[in-house]
Amino acid sequence: MRNTRYGSSRRRNSQPILPPAPLNRAGRGGPAQPPSPQFLPPFVNRRPTPREIAEHGPLCKTVPVLCRDTWVALVNFVGRRYIQAMNSRNAEAAVDAIIWLLHLPRSLTKCRGGKKNRHARSISAQIRAYHERLRREHGESYPPFPRHNHEPAESSHEDRQRKRAVAEARSGYLGRAARTLVSQPPLQQSAILDKLKAQHPAGPPIADIPQVPLHLRSPLFDIQGGKEFKDFIRRRVATGAAPGPSGFTGEMILATLHDEHCVDLWIRIIHDLRSGEMPAAAKEYLLASRLVGIPKQHDPSKPRPVAPGEIFFRMSMLHALHHENAQPIRQLFEPLGMLGTSVPGGCEQIVHSVQALLDAGRFVVELDFKDAYQLADRIAALGTVYSQPNLQQLAPILHWSHSIHSPLHVCDDGEVLDSLTSQQGSRQGCPSGGIMFEATSFKPVSATRARFSSVDDFLRTFFDNVYFSGLIPERIIEAVKFFLAEALRVNLVANLPKCKIIYTGADPLPDCIVEFARENGIPIVREATIILGAPVGRDQAAIKQMCIKVVESHDRFFSALAHDNIPVHEGMLILSRSGVPRLSYLSRCVRPELLSDAARLFDKRVLRTARQKLQLPDTDKLNAATLQLALPVKHVGFGLRPVRSTSSLAFQGSIAAAAPALQKLFPLGLPVPFQHAIDANWQRVKSLVDPQNDAKLTSLPKKPKDTLRFYSEDRSRAHKLQKMLTAQYERLQFERLKSEAGPEDRARLVSGSQQMAGACWATIPFTRSLRMSDSEYRAAARLRLGLPLSDNMPAKCACGFALNGSVAHLTSCVIFHGSYVTKRHDEVVNCLGRGIRRLGGFAHVEPRHLRFDRDNRRPDIDVFIGDQRFLVDGSVRRPTSSEPLRATIEAATQKGEYYKAQAEAARATFVPFIIETFGAWGDRALKFVKDLRKAVLPGSSFDAREFYYLLCSEIAVAVQRGNARTIAYALQAARARDSSDIAPRWPRSVVQVGGSLIVAVR
Ligand SMILES: [Zn+2]
Repeated sequence: MRNTRYGSSRRRNSQPILPPAPLNRAGRGGPAQPPSPQFLPPFVNRRPTPREIAEHGPLCKTVPVLCRDTWVALVNFVGRRYIQAMNSRNAEAAVDAIIWLLHLPRSLTKCRGGKKNRHARSISAQIRAYHERLRREHGESYPPFPRHNHEPAESSHEDRQRKRAVAEARSGYLGRAARTLVSQPPLQQSAILDKLKAQHPAGPPIADIPQVPLHLRSPLFDIQGGKEFKDFIRRRVATGAAPGPSGFTGEMILATLHDEHCVDLWIRIIHDLRSGEMPAAAKEYLLASRLVGIPKQHDPSKPRPVAPGEIFFRMSMLHALHHENAQPIRQLFEPLGMLGTSVPGGCEQIVHSVQALLDAGRFVVELDFKDAYQLADRIAALGTVYSQPNLQQLAPILHWSHSIHSPLHVCDDGEVLDSLTSQQGSRQGCPSGGIMFEATSFKPVSATRARFSSVDDFLRTFFDNVYFSGLIPERIIEAVKFFLAEALRVNLVANLPKCKIIYTGADPLPDCIVEFARENGIPIVREATIILGAPVGRDQAAIKQMCIKVVESHDRFFSALAHDNIPVHEGMLILSRSGVPRLSYLSRCVRPELLSDAARLFDKRVLRTARQKLQLPDTDKLNAATLQLALPVKHVGFGLRPVRSTSSLAFQGSIAAAAPALQKLFPLGLPVPFQHAIDANWQRVKSLVDPQNDAKLTSLPKKPKDTLRFYSEDRSRAHKLQKMLTAQYERLQFERLKSEAGPEDRARLVSGSQQMAGACWATIPFTRSLRMSDSEYRAAARLRLGLPLSDNMPAKCACGFALNGSVAHLTSCVIFHGSYVTKRHDEVVNCLGRGIRRLGGFAHVEPRHLRFDRDNRRPDIDVFIGDQRFLVDGSVRRPTSSEPLRATIEAATQKGEYYKAQAEAARATFVPFIIETFGAWGDRALKFVKDLRKAVLPGSSFDAREFYYLLCSEIAVAVQRGNARTIAYALQAARARDSSDIAPRWPRSVVQVGGSLIVAVR
């Protein structure tokens, strides 16, 4: 801040109080410069005395109209400081503010001047200069216009959660947004510091950690740049995850991907870390993590230590795990029954197996370990990694990252409270955690298998959850004891009270089991329990109750989502993409007949939330609309898939995936209750996806009892089975909906399922141009669902057309041509023009220089891309027939004829850019945008896909926003007509002749 002295001693007659700024002294007789007002704020050395305040030249008595806003802003700025000072009882600051306030009139110093009117202008220049200077010197803290701050100063945890969730949804992290909505309030880190310390005990000295054997030191691998690498960053690195201590995030890496030099840098870093060439001195920087204790869901008193580390190490580890190494890892662990890493659906496979074993009347022992991740023995893990050929590629990076005591900074409010070190196991939140744990438990598992390798023995692990079963109880107990002893040697201590012995058979328990349970304090479960998040057992009522409890645990999510602070647009995206899938794991694991009550409850909550968000009116059409809401976006729905009808499809998919394992477990046939469940489910699936028994389904066995054999013989049959079945089911539902609809609704449904019609509803509103306000979204959604806009719809449109409860007419009523309908058209055209310019092309919207023929016709945009010229004319048309894209074809032909001669004369290609009201694009429009995508130059700041996505979404959203506005205005006009005889004011383009309307052709 420039230090100006208060109360200038250099007063001149003409400018009494202005400081000696060079501006004012600029040559006499030169052009009149606006006087620079003296600037008060710096009370750096001392306050001005009251006397000095009184010393000034003549001031204006009123604020000139021209400067009023600026003046208000100035007063506001100083006034706010005063109020703040008073609120915080800061007397000194309050006095300063008062003095400042008293000084403000100096910005209105009278200037003597000859010419008329000069007075006001010079004042205006003066006050503007003052204002500008204030803004410059006070930067952000000076708002040019008063800001309205409606929020309470102290925002609650829920408020912050909702805000964060909306921001995450806008960045495309819908799953994360859903988790944020239900997250527990953060723990005070200083209060749990001791617990965190206890969770990170001392480990082996660094010198004891074995070096990488020589032959493993320079592994051969190839890191491809290009598209594959960018996809890797997009999918696995830029996930919105919390940053490490430096604050560097995956998104920051994502933002650099268009620059080849940056990509080279990232590849280099990955290479150096994976090959272990990164200098050891970098370890304490790259391996440092923030340590955050977050509340555990079931036991809030105990923190779960999550340690987000630096993104560069995480990126390299993920790259090492997902490129080239996924298959070898699976080949190593799957035969041992270790299903944690690299076995998709491993969790469900264990649940099904355990249920089948229980149905067969066998025992299952579940083991649980204390703080397994943080305590697992590093040396044992590295030993496995070095000795197993399938893991040897990972040896350098795992050694590099686990051969120091990596720092963990416990932070709270941006302040480091304490620094611990991670000396054993691995950190939660680090991608190496899973593989390190599996490598640690490899030894006990393989030793146990080697010793107890009878056909009937069952041993499966899912990270720190271990399951034992077998025919002979004594043998199970022996195996469990042996495993526990082996586990202890790699530092895994069993948490006995949390272990379980599950036995649901009718016979009494054998003595050896009872004794073992009593000795170790292990509870025995006789009816039903939850393993790996899914209920198993024989007590059906208990299982149903457990499912309902799971559904009820999601209540917080739904009520958080229904809050008014979550915008409808983001809320509906979160609901459909991360709300509905909340029950998908359960529906894959639990038999549909046991889940049905819970599923019904869940579907009810989903629908209720959707109705709250969309404020759907209660009409007779609501049933059809509810069916439509449940369909996917491509079938004119909102993706709120009902769990109740699709749970049997999910169960079928899961059983198919687990079929080889189940068949191996029971080669002579499944236990009867389990086989019954599979048979019953086959019937249900058949009736859902093939009710007429005429579809040739290759993904379903001919007879229910063949199910296991069918999917084990050819594993590709189970691949994406649930997806295929669900798609088939939803297609049938959509056909049904169409066949039951009237002609107008059918036209809407057909149009809404055409190309690009879903773009608006699937788009992530990451920028302002893609967002719809709540009212816009609601109106557009009702239009899509064919619902009336409000409960008291006027009977007739302002033009006299009978509406019959439908709003489709209002989107294109003739009397709004020239106003709202044209505005919608203009926005589409503007979006397209903007997109072409983004590409580096030239787009002249409304080219007035182009006039042709007698009617001075001109298209909407004159486009040059490279040396090619296009004349583009856009239009939004309402589909009236149920023939797909009919409206666009008609309009394209009509426009093509109209502009044909003009395009030929201009040596240009004419492009009719026609979009239907419900969002479907004409073929020519789609082709044009696809051609634009091809014209994206390599090395631009966006890639072709991003360009295409943004452009299509912008246009799609512009159409729906335009629809919403038109409908709202048209409804108003219709109500005005209803309520009085005074006709609305017709736009110029409409001429009323004897009660009929004739549209003047433009
Ligand atoms: Zn009308």
